Amino acid sequence: MPQIIDGKIISTQIKEEVREKVVKLKAEGIEVTLAVIQVGNDPASSVYVGNKKKACEYVGIRSLSYELPETTSEEELLALIGELNDKVDVNGILVQLPLPGHIDEDKVIAAISPQKDVDGFHPMNVGAFCIGQPGFLPCTPAGIIQLLKRSGIETVGKECVVIGRSNIVGKPMALLMLGENATVTVAHSRTKDLQEVTKRADILIAAVGRPKMITKEYVKDGAVVIDVGIHRDENNKLCGDVDYDDVVAVCSAITPVPGGVGPMTIAMLMNNCVESVRLASK
Ligand code: NAD
Repeated sequence: MPQIIDGKIISTQIKEEVREKVVKLKAEGIEVTLAVIQVGNDPASSVYVGNKKKACEYVGIRSLSYELPETTSEEELLALIGELNDKVDVNGILVQLPLPGHIDEDKVIAAISPQKDVDGFHPMNVGAFCIGQPGFLPCTPAGIIQLLKRSGIETVGKECVVIGRSNIVGKPMALLMLGENATVTVAHSRTKDLQEVTKRADILIAAVGRPKMITKEYVKDGAVVIDVGIHRDENNKLCGDVDYDDVVAVCSAITPVPGGVGPMTIAMLMNNCVESVRLASK
């Protein structure tokens, strides 16, 4: 039976640690505040935003909610971000993605002050982390590193294959694994013979965005398998990019969906909010 990497337990540990830091900051007269902006009312985004606000409440972070109509113009959104950038009592700014089609996401991300960019998407934070300088780490890949570390999984010298090269998961994931001294390969939609590549992996990280695509044919015996995907299957049940029931028989450790990577993203967001206070005081 493989090790089931429990993201619920590990994310709760992290949130407890964040809660303690928030209490200490409160004792110093600092209230950590996150501004959460949602444009439109996409149901999935509303669920994510609701979960983020709940997590804030749990760890003692004040959240300010900006629910803007779908018709909000890019100028209006940029003006709000400008105001929040200037507010000394706002530590973090989060704009829930995706934005409606008439708003340029890159422009919006670049408008957020890098010191308040708790998602870690601003080009300055991306650049800083590429060269190992202080800044915000993107939450999902940073959460996966915590899952590995806190589950006692060795990364040094291991072959790691990341499937996917998106800016928010695949690319930063590969860089973070490099930072953990793994030998990293990034596979993507143009990779020839994907199975031959993934079968080399001691640690296989799937961020493909395709339900249950990774079957045991892609997995080396005894590999650690991290599943970033979130989907609904034909029975409306949550599933990942990995065919869990198939792969569980051959791997040495695996993250389930739900209860694996998902809860880590929000825990790391909470950690970044606290981190924002430390970064601002530098
Ligand atoms: P994306 O669509 O931006 O990127 C998918 C990547 O997979 C691309 O780089 C593409 O090259 C690669 N790919 C697609 N088809 C492929 C194929 N057949 N073979 C090899 N590579 C292929 O997706 P994303 O934003 O990186 O997210 C990936 C998955 O992770 C999605 O299911 C998403 O919902 C999920 N996700 C989960 C969390 C979380 O908190 N758990 C956070 C972000 C994303």
